[in-house]
Amino acid sequence: MRILVCNDDGISARGLRALVEVAQEFGQVFVVAPDKPQSGMGHAISIGVPLRLYPSSIFGSSIPAWACSGTPADCVKLATGVLGLRPDLLLSGINHGANFSISVFYSGTLSAAIEGAFEGIPSVGFSLLNYSMEADFSAAQAIVREVLLMYLAHPFPPHVPLNVNIPDLPLSEIRGLRLTRQARGRFIEQFEKRIDPYGEPYYWMVGRFESQDTASDTDIWALEKGYVSICPLLIDLTNHSFLQHWEAVQR
Ligand code: MN
Repeated sequence: MRILVCNDDGISARGLRALVEVAQEFGQVFVVAPDKPQSGMGHAISIGVPLRLYPSSIFGSSIPAWACSGTPADCVKLATGVLGLRPDLLLSGINHGANFSISVFYSGTLSAAIEGAFEGIPSVGFSLLNYSMEADFSAAQAIVREVLLMYLAHPFPPHVPLNVNIPDLPLSEIRGLRLTRQARGRFIEQFEKRIDPYGEPYYWMVGRFESQDTASDTDIWALEKGYVSICPLLIDLTNHSFLQHWEAVQR
């Protein structure tokens, strides 16, 4: 099995290395990852600027790797379109930080998995609930292994990308895997205003997340209780229930 590993934190991120190490147990791994951090880029693609692919020996001679000047979605496109390496499985992450609820819309980690799903490639995004670049990924690696064994034994359809979030706990305190749905919530944006050396103001976005959903079938509930959240995503953003409602009221 050929496995493409990508991420949004960049090719030198420890979470990517942690994922590569586990992926190696399952097949022939290659890496296409951004050459710089791309968190929060969502599903952006590069139009009007050149895209570059730099071969990298960062994972040793047995794992071909490329640093890409573009976004996570660009990485997937270049892997299949330029390198001609269509994977049997695409893994993205392990992200340094959570990707629950509406974070899916902002996440570069998940955009790589969703891009894979667009192309009919079974795709899974992994995130650890720890934003530190020095985070300990040892428990997360064991969870990735467990999720992949489950996933490969009972494959989801290739157009259903999985969003896996892992609590930042020792392995002995992680209570197991739960299939979840995306909780409703929002970011409350706050901006820190500062002044640059030329006297011009600039702003740091330092929002916090507010959950609006306490139900026990959500990703947030599972993570708060110490479970791994596995949320199957939809590519189709059409509001089908509203369409049905609309058709009913038109009659
Ligand atoms: Mn990230």
